[in-house]
Amino acid sequence: MAGVIRRLDETVVNRIAAGEVIQRPANAVKEMIENCLDAKSTNIQVTVKDGGLKLLQIQDNGTGIRKEDMEIVCERFTTSKLQTFEDLSAIATYGFRGEALASISHVAHVTITTKTADAKCAYRASYSDGKLKGPPKPCAGNQGTQILVEDLFYNVSTRRKALKSHSDEYSRIVEVVSRYAIHNSGKSFSVKKQGETVADVRTLPNASVVDNIRGVFGNAVSRELIEVGCEDQKLAYKMKGYISNANYSVKKCIMILFINHRLVESSALKKAAETVYAAYLPKNTHPFLYLSLEIAPQNVDVNVHPTKHEVHFLHEDSVIESVQKHIEGKLLGSNSSRTYFTQTLLPGLSVCSGGEAKSSSATSESTERVYAHQMVRTDCRAQKLDAFLQPKEKPLPGPEPAGPNSAAPDDNPGRSDSAEPDDIDMLEALDQVEAGVSTNEEESSIKVRDVQRKRPRKEQEQQEMVEEEEAAVEEDLTAAATPKRRVIKLSSMKDLRGEISENTHKGLQEMLQNHSFVGCVNPQWTLIQHHTKLYLLDTTRLSQELFYQILIYDFGNFGVLRLSTPAPIYDLAMLALDLEESGWTEEDGPKEGLAQYIVDFLKKKAEMLDDYFSMEIDQEGNLRGLPLLLDKYTPIMEGLPMFILRLATEVNWDNEKECFRDFSKECSMFYSIRKRYILEAEPGEEQDPELNSWRWKVEHVICKALRTLISPPKHYSEDGTVLQIANLPDLYKVFERC
Ligand code: ADP
Ligand code: MG
Repeated sequence: MAGVIRRLDETVVNRIAAGEVIQRPANAVKEMIENCLDAKSTNIQVTVKDGGLKLLQIQDNGTGIRKEDMEIVCERFTTSKLQTFEDLSAIATYGFRGEALASISHVAHVTITTKTADAKCAYRASYSDGKLKGPPKPCAGNQGTQILVEDLFYNVSTRRKALKSHSDEYSRIVEVVSRYAIHNSGKSFSVKKQGETVADVRTLPNASVVDNIRGVFGNAVSRELIEVGCEDQKLAYKMKGYISNANYSVKKCIMILFINHRLVESSALKKAAETVYAAYLPKNTHPFLYLSLEIAPQNVDVNVHPTKHEVHFLHEDSVIESVQKHIEGKLLGSNSSRTYFTQTLLPGLSVCSGGEAKSSSATSESTERVYAHQMVRTDCRAQKLDAFLQPKEKPLPGPEPAGPNSAAPDDNPGRSDSAEPDDIDMLEALDQVEAGVSTNEEESSIKVRDVQRKRPRKEQEQQEMVEEEEAAVEEDLTAAATPKRRVIKLSSMKDLRGEISENTHKGLQEMLQNHSFVGCVNPQWTLIQHHTKLYLLDTTRLSQELFYQILIYDFGNFGVLRLSTPAPIYDLAMLALDLEESGWTEEDGPKEGLAQYIVDFLKKKAEMLDDYFSMEIDQEGNLRGLPLLLDKYTPIMEGLPMFILRLATEVNWDNEKECFRDFSKECSMFYSIRKRYILEAEPGEEQDPELNSWRWKVEHVICKALRTLISPPKHYSEDGTVLQIANLPDLYKVFERC
């Protein structure tokens, strides 16, 4: 009798202990990913059902587990990673010292399928309460290990009840996988829901850290990263990583911290970093940081309790201070708008409060010698004052929340502190509506009324989960740092993005990044200078490509340009069919029928267009909103009718990838700077401030965005999109002869 009682006791104790180690599915995933990495895997695939509570499957291509070890892997304190006591202090592998798998097997059904390189076949075995349920059975399988965890917490009903939001658990899992993927660039990771064909996060084996950050957090941040790295022998630490510059900010600090390759939290380090950024970022906004610290193993115990992510280590304060200094130095050196930010936000505060950081810019200048023939008069970063004045066109309002369009480096720091723009905007919108009614024809009364950024869907989901969240254990590694940007999981979009990045002309990109604006020849041609050379840019093509890339990269994350009066699609289609350009002939049938068809057709696509492209079409068949692609930029509405018509005729709606590509092509054409619409409208230019503002738009919106947002395709160097028209040294030679 007593024996039975004792055995029961032990099971329960184990179960309780296991529940302590594994508090939620994401903890289990983390432990298992670390095991995969310890086993030298280069490809790790995670599959999840019901937030991991029904099923968690981790497949790797690592060393596998030998058949004779299969019996004991799930027993507590069995590990292949330590042999002697001395190993313990030098251990650099992950792991919870043989406790992870054991714990999981006490609270879930575990099945392991594994094959080593030497074995002739794979073996499969199931475990329960730390013990093998039966002898391993031979089966087919590739080298590596698959761990299947089913019905997590099936025997711990309290825990199960506390974790009732599957989508929350899932996003925590996605977050853990994403972070390990970023840290382990060179290895490929994927995470998806069971039954889905497309992964929510997928990284490629040849991707860089920045590629992976882009894949997970989006372009907005990946374009604004500074590489950091430092070490200190005395403090016995090394650090490297990527941090956002002063152009980028988010509502919540995202800090991805690895110490000795284990994902951890350090609120002290986070605080230290935030203090540095406070001087650079607008109030209540925060940076992105990915830092990887390596600390002498004897100085740190990262193998703390798996649920306690917070780490402490020897000489913590000194190490943090040293890292902080390095970050500050990098930030100082990186950004030309820094002084502006600092002065605006903190009047009277001196920029250089620290010790040696201030000399950094001076030294870098003196090392680089500039020869006379390379001397250029302009600094591409120099801004003219009029960049800060609005064009005559109505100003677009509003503070800039974190999100897609923070990709456009926003160096207008005064933006968040006044409510005025909104009011002005309302008044002007009213004016415009009136003007439209009294004088203009249909299409020219289409005006953008206001600009609105949609709340990313993720945020709404999170809202719904708040209550459950509060009930659940507060150890918020994950939810706090979930990016507000919607993660797009469509492989079609990944493909389209890949096409852009593969086809980038690096030289042209560098040239565009560092160019100085010289002037507009006409709406199509813009003169720019780069070093000693003068170039002519095809503004139409470049702006179209720019908008195309924005559409692809910010897909699903656009703000809305709301029209002052909804525009009936029927009328727009009729206007387009009246244009010669439409190519309409009698044979196509009556225009009215076609126009009605277009209305009905686009209405059917309305939900998708709104969701992905912020193009709003109401049930009455009116166009209400268009995507906001760049701040302070509205397309010329004369192009709208043809855009609408072409959506119905030029887009392949049957194939996902083609559809997104075609739509983006058409939309970017509509948004591009086009001579025709501007010049045709020239006589009325005076009355139409929107058209009049094209010069301002080219200089301050398009050219500025070309510096940071475009990956110019290779063929631009050959097809006349970018033409070199003068080289200063050559000009000197000409003058010498005179
Ligand atoms: P630890 O990682 O601390 O050794 P775990 O409970 O996490 O403890 O794992 C127990 C043992 O199971 C490991 O030491 C390793 O030998 C084996 N193991 C677990 N996962 C894998 C895997 N994906 N590939 C190869 N071996 C694994
Ligand atoms: Mg382990």
